[in-house]
Amino acid sequence: MNLCTSDESIVDFVETALDPVPSAEEVALANELTRRIIDAISKLPEAQRTVVYYRFVMNVSVHQVAYLTNQPVGSVKSKCHYGLQKLRRLLSDYMIEGEYVVNCKEAYVFLFQYAKGQIMREDREKVEGHLDACKDCNDLAESLRILAASMTPAQDGEIRHYMIAMPLSDGTNLLYSGVTYPIDDHQRDHMNAVLQANGGAIPQKESWSFTSHDANLEHLAEFDNEGHRIEFELVPKPSDPSKVMVVYRKMVKVYPEHLMASVALSKDKYVTTTIEDPNLVVGKMQNYLGVNAKSGLYLAIPAGAKNIRIRRGNGVIDAGAYKFAFSERYVAEDECLRLECTYLKS
Ligand SMILES: [Zn+2]
Repeated sequence: MNLCTSDESIVDFVETALDPVPSAEEVALANELTRRIIDAISKLPEAQRTVVYYRFVMNVSVHQVAYLTNQPVGSVKSKCHYGLQKLRRLLSDYMIEGEYVVNCKEAYVFLFQYAKGQIMREDREKVEGHLDACKDCNDLAESLRILAASMTPAQDGEIRHYMIAMPLSDGTNLLYSGVTYPIDDHQRDHMNAVLQANGGAIPQKESWSFTSHDANLEHLAEFDNEGHRIEFELVPKPSDPSKVMVVYRKMVKVYPEHLMASVALSKDKYVTTTIEDPNLVVGKMQNYLGVNAKSGLYLAIPAGAKNIRIRRGNGVIDAGAYKFAFSERYVAEDECLRLECTYLKS
């Protein structure tokens, strides 16, 4: 749907937004859109507002509008035309490439990249359009921005690993994780030569796979050091069918300290309420990397959480709508990093 081409498209837009839609997510988005549209209509000059309201909200024909408002059909048509033009301008911040706005799941892909300021311009515009309309994602983005500034970088040549878990209201967890590791000159030259020769595509026989994860994880996206999105394929791990390998298919380039930043949704429970007391919450995360690395786990908990106790690990970062219980340190190859915390619901 493209708002910029004709009046029909904005009519579609208004009608679609005012129609009942199936999923809860779409309903929420449609409600937000409806509010925006009603708001924009209310800003039209009186004469345009009346005809636009009758014509597109009440779905009254041009002739009936002319009759109801006691004016010629030509005047109704021209007021509709100018009214729609003005509406288009008023709603322009809400229209991205002819679509309304990206939904939450599409926004999740970019929130941490956005928070770090490592996002392509066109993606940033999409995300900002969504953040404007969605308080929940705006809270996530703002908290991630504060967290990103508190995360300590690795020293030169060190492997840096992190995992951020953001529990969502539907019980799933939004995960941002990343590994930065050095790639030696020889390997990197080979990889970049392959990318250059194939316009960024990675031939099947090369089979570049840097990570694998549980098959139950919904892997949404991968980004490189500069925020370019990487195309990948998920392939079952031959040695362990409960895991999938992320096999890369297209990327811009390989960096000396290469970062693979991924975004996923997980049904794993990182936060659970205790049976003894429904107000007492337990949070748990762990990772096992199998390399000597600087590693960090960050678990988002509501800003209003009280009496936070960290069983192991470092502490709490206060970050706006969320706090992050975190554990961050160097781990040896055979070590597992754990984060355990409890808190009371506010
Ligand atoms: Zn959202």
